[in-house]
Amino acid sequence: MKSLLARTPDELRADFAAAGHPGFRGAQVAHWLYARREREFAAMANLPARLRAELGAAWQTRALERVAVHEAADGTKKLVLATHDGARIESVLIPEGRRRTLCVSSQIGCSLDCSFCATGRMGLARNLRAEEIVDQALHASELLDASGERLTHVVFMGMGEPLLNLQNVVQAIRVLVHAEAFALSPKRITVSTAGVVPKLAELGRALPVRLAVSLHATRDALRDELVPLNRRFPIASLLEACAAYPIAKRDRLSFEYALLADVNDSEADARELAALALEARAKINLIPMNEHPGSPYRRPSEARIEAFLAVLAEAGVGATVRRSRGDDIFAACGQLGALSAGTSADAAGR
Ligand code: SAH
Repeated sequence: MKSLLARTPDELRADFAAAGHPGFRGAQVAHWLYARREREFAAMANLPARLRAELGAAWQTRALERVAVHEAADGTKKLVLATHDGARIESVLIPEGRRRTLCVSSQIGCSLDCSFCATGRMGLARNLRAEEIVDQALHASELLDASGERLTHVVFMGMGEPLLNLQNVVQAIRVLVHAEAFALSPKRITVSTAGVVPKLAELGRALPVRLAVSLHATRDALRDELVPLNRRFPIASLLEACAAYPIAKRDRLSFEYALLADVNDSEADARELAALALEARAKINLIPMNEHPGSPYRRPSEARIEAFLAVLAEAGVGATVRRSRGDDIFAACGQLGALSAGTSADAAGR
């Protein structure tokens, strides 16, 4: 069966027209789905009964089933969603001021195996389909409806490497930005990558979304160890691809930098990072290590984090610390999939 969620409303018009229906029926179905959050064709009252039956036989409106919603003390919610083939994926809904940001997964597992990340342990099961990415946003919107809230931002920072599933990620983004679907501005969508250099240009050509690059180290020797992908695409090639990425004049790309105690958190590291950021006109997003069972990496002390930040500020580099959200429900960066990867909450002492 075809999935409605994999098609933009414009594509649905064309699909319906090609099937011999008036094109506007496609727009009506999209309106039911995205504006009314109605997934049952039977309830789409302004469609002829025959068409509803026909659509029900040909099209699916659900790519994922909601398995559980875990709420953290800080209001962060982790949605556990099941695919048709029985896999579990996770999305994280993060309230922050007036923002409602959804962190979506792009793959089941991940092939990159960054040394400090729990998801990498699972390896890659498969790419998510476009409809499975879109449905994460629809499930989150359904959850927000209960409190009269709306999704405002989407970040591709969940499980997986979005640039290794670029075609489906781009198609999902087309639906997220479509005025008759989620109507999110591309500026409110961020794709985060560990640095799949050849795919960066492709993303830039396809859609002007915001870019975040998981840097984590300023020298190849250390980055080779933390982000094994660096052995194929070393820092210099990554910075070159960043420089070529289309960014609006007043915008900045961001470098994510996981702060790992005694690994990359010295003041000398901070100075080198500041130099790279100035050169690339990037801002820095520091992510103090979210510890997880079986990982040798530790979070630096607050004093150490502050000292690192002070060096960046001194150099005139914009930097923020991503205070861990939802780590009590294993929803923090690099913790997704940690529990399904064979560890348990008890082992984490939580
Ligand atoms: N594969 C993409 C998308 C993942 S985004 C990428 O690498 O950018 C998730 C971010 O959290 C990445 O910057 C990742 O390196 C970081 N991260 C992973 N594990 C972490 C951990 N245990 N603590 C802090 N940050 C982590």
